[in-house]
Amino acid sequence: MDAPLFPLFADLNGRAVLVVGGGAVAGRKVEALLHAGARPRVGAPQLSPALRELAEAGRIDWLPGLFDTRWLAEDVWLVIAATDEPVVNRAVAGAAEAQRLFVNVVDDAQLSRFHVPAMVERGALQIAVSSGGAAPMVARHVRRRLEELFDDAWGRLTELAGRHRPAIRAHFPDTGARRRFFDRLLDGPVLDLLRRHRQADAELALQQAMAGEPPAAAGSVVLVGAGSGDPGLLTLAGLRALNQADVILHDRLVSAEVLQLARRDAERIEVGKSARGHSTGQEHIHALMLEHARAGRRVVRLKGGDAFVFGRGGEELQFLRAHGVPYEVVPGITAALACAASTGIPLTHRDHAQQLRLVTAHCRDSLDTLDWPALAAPRQTLVFYMGVAALAQIQARLLDAGLPAATPFALVENGSRTDQRVVSGTLRQLAGAAGLHAVRSPALLILGDVAGLADELHWFGDAPLPATSRTSSPSAKTPPPTLADAA
Ligand code: SAH
Repeated sequence: MDAPLFPLFADLNGRAVLVVGGGAVAGRKVEALLHAGARPRVGAPQLSPALRELAEAGRIDWLPGLFDTRWLAEDVWLVIAATDEPVVNRAVAGAAEAQRLFVNVVDDAQLSRFHVPAMVERGALQIAVSSGGAAPMVARHVRRRLEELFDDAWGRLTELAGRHRPAIRAHFPDTGARRRFFDRLLDGPVLDLLRRHRQADAELALQQAMAGEPPAAAGSVVLVGAGSGDPGLLTLAGLRALNQADVILHDRLVSAEVLQLARRDAERIEVGKSARGHSTGQEHIHALMLEHARAGRRVVRLKGGDAFVFGRGGEELQFLRAHGVPYEVVPGITAALACAASTGIPLTHRDHAQQLRLVTAHCRDSLDTLDWPALAAPRQTLVFYMGVAALAQIQARLLDAGLPAATPFALVENGSRTDQRVVSGTLRQLAGAAGLHAVRSPALLILGDVAGLADELHWFGDAPLPATSRTSSPSAKTPPPTLADAA
């Protein structure tokens, strides 16, 4: 096996670098060189429009014509060959080597004397990944993982530590002591404070750590919205929280695929609640959050959809605030958005709906307190959560309040998951349709003219099922209006 490469970060500020080639690949190299403050000198018979612009702006020098060894002038520090002609690239590599100039030949590890790594940049913090040319795709993949792992807060941390470096060195002249201080600092709250853009508090925490004061209790709770089941609908911030969690308290609605993304050794506790059936009481959930946070653990409270949409996230924050437990909130894709997307139903539409209402139909109480005349108003979209058991009442009350019987609906079961089913029809058919297709929770009811677009715009899974069996021939996409609808 070849010897490994020697990694190095070069200071090219103000230094000339020769780039041979005038196309898109050369353009990307030139961008990277300009970012590092270098003075690119581009040799090529012609320049791409982007490079031409840079030349006209005086940001690069252009050496017109075919490759000439005189381009390797005395003040050139590095050479990059980026033409699409292997013969030219080889000539450049040979000439550079003869003058002991480091040369990179794009996409040719053999001819290259230095490689350009895949990079993650967070302010002054630069993370470089290389496979030594063996497998650039693997390096790129690792880079992507690092992008997720190291957010902007690391850049701010690097800046902060850099600014206080003289003080820190003066305070801890001994290397060992300094290293232990940094371990303490990075385990403490500084990074989290920077993540929440609380710069002043972060400075304070750094000063406290220097004074040797114990950091504030490290335990905390992150309220994370997991989206509606498809792991692709989790946010990067949510993924990061799952990667850092010691304990995950999750709802029943959170899919196994999402839970799989969490740190392997995190303790997973299901505190699911089903509409009836078994449930973990809210007080018990509060007690668990408190117990684990007080023990110094990083708790993720993981909820289906979004924690602030019918998710009791507000109550949990009030409880945490009352008990002095630090918290963060990461939003999730709520069922209304996920189901709308996966059924092709735009929730607002210039021709059909100028407002959107998210409604809970959880129990008789909530049904009684809803403002039905307002819900029956025209040109809006209604989305009912937790309504499967109450569809007959919803239908009756809306008809009573004057919503036209021909108003389209879409009932979405297991929305955005592989087992998604959609039933579409009109308000008059609602309860019957749900019974006919035995629609089960979790299901979402979307009501309003936009729901009618599902038949035309659906793209995910099967086409919407018709509301009545009379029209259930497989070829029928849109159920024809029933007699009742026509009346
Ligand atoms: N906080 C969650 C909602 C919790 S209430 C969110 O923001 O999505 C639970 C209700 O959400 C269910 O009864 C159902 O109406 C709806 N729901 C959640 N996931 C769903 C899914 N994948 N498909 C359809 N409805 C869903």
